[in-house]
Amino acid sequence: MRRILVLILVVFSFHGLSRAEGNDTVAIRQFAEYGDATAIENVRPVKNIVIMIGDGMGFEAITAARIHSFGRGVGLALDRMPVTGQNLSYSLSEDIITDSAASGTALACGVKTLNGRIAQDRHAARLKTILELAGELGKSTGLVATSKVNHATPASFASHVKSRNNYWEIARQMSRAPLDVLLGGGYGYFLPGSHPESFRDDELDLLGEMRSRGASVTMDPGQLGNLDPDRVKALVGLFARDDLDRTARSAVNLSEMTGTALKILSRNPRGFFMMVEGSQIDWAGHGHDLEYSVGETLEFDRAVGVVLSFAEKHGETLVIVTADHETGGLSLNKASEKDKTLTAGWTTGSHTANVVPVFAYGPNAEAFGAVIHNHHIPQLAVQGWGVKNFTGFAYGK
Ligand SMILES: [Zn+2]
Repeated sequence: MRRILVLILVVFSFHGLSRAEGNDTVAIRQFAEYGDATAIENVRPVKNIVIMIGDGMGFEAITAARIHSFGRGVGLALDRMPVTGQNLSYSLSEDIITDSAASGTALACGVKTLNGRIAQDRHAARLKTILELAGELGKSTGLVATSKVNHATPASFASHVKSRNNYWEIARQMSRAPLDVLLGGGYGYFLPGSHPESFRDDELDLLGEMRSRGASVTMDPGQLGNLDPDRVKALVGLFARDDLDRTARSAVNLSEMTGTALKILSRNPRGFFMMVEGSQIDWAGHGHDLEYSVGETLEFDRAVGVVLSFAEKHGETLVIVTADHETGGLSLNKASEKDKTLTAGWTTGSHTANVVPVFAYGPNAEAFGAVIHNHHIPQLAVQGWGVKNFTGFAYGK
């Protein structure tokens, strides 16, 4: 008897060691209907809403950044946020795994859609975004990203196209959107075709148009620090021809851009909406680069700290931090106190269906402490603005 028991233990422990990696499959028994967010009971008024999106930032990317910084401890800005929930990021595409366009649309419009769509539903109907809603409510609006500003996530808040790859049309629409602050990269898409750095094949001078409507426009990252936010009506700062590369990033970082945006947006007595994206956490996941992932996650977390400090000083600010999806299937496999190293594995070069975190601070934050869908996030957020049943559909064209 004892010999059998030993044999069973040996087999079990051998199993544990032998199943190292690889895919495995189980049936999906049904595709149940999913609903919209329910009304928040005793909803409290909100003046400002900030949505911060770590692109591709799963629980594991955050955990890697936390272990890198504090070992067994805590101390990220995210760790100060009182409410944590789970965000189901699925899109309506066949494989249910979302891209940044479909998830950006869900986070901006309160509607799930197909991958690739920017603020359009599965039938390519236009959806109202939370940023456009803010503009209608007389609030100021801002978008801040470390990618080009016409990349899928920021694009989902201020343009409407069938394909995220139409960067030229996205730039054209964004230049005409009700935006008070636009900070990131991508000036090549906003310059007329005859300019040597332009990516356009038409002569639209989108930066010139925004300037003529009163915006201060700069392509010099060194300018941001010298800027007097009180003397700026609207600010467009595009600090790289395409995505914010190393050169641009050495001169301007996400928390600096976020701080400047807050100074400008918070002058409006009616409040503001702002979206901040840590765009390149996703690229670290695609590239299986743990050091890049940790660096980008920590930079994003510093921007979270800037926003939380603002919200702690000024009440009525709802701060939501989430990811559009997880990237890379990151798994933290080994850490050593002696060697002071953390070793991780990646299971895919693509996005995953992994649940991503949602953190909330401020009035109605408790509503986010649950298992929710990505499209519930703006639906819940705008209830503090007195808007019920927010879906891009309800607001139509
Ligand atoms: Zn990606």
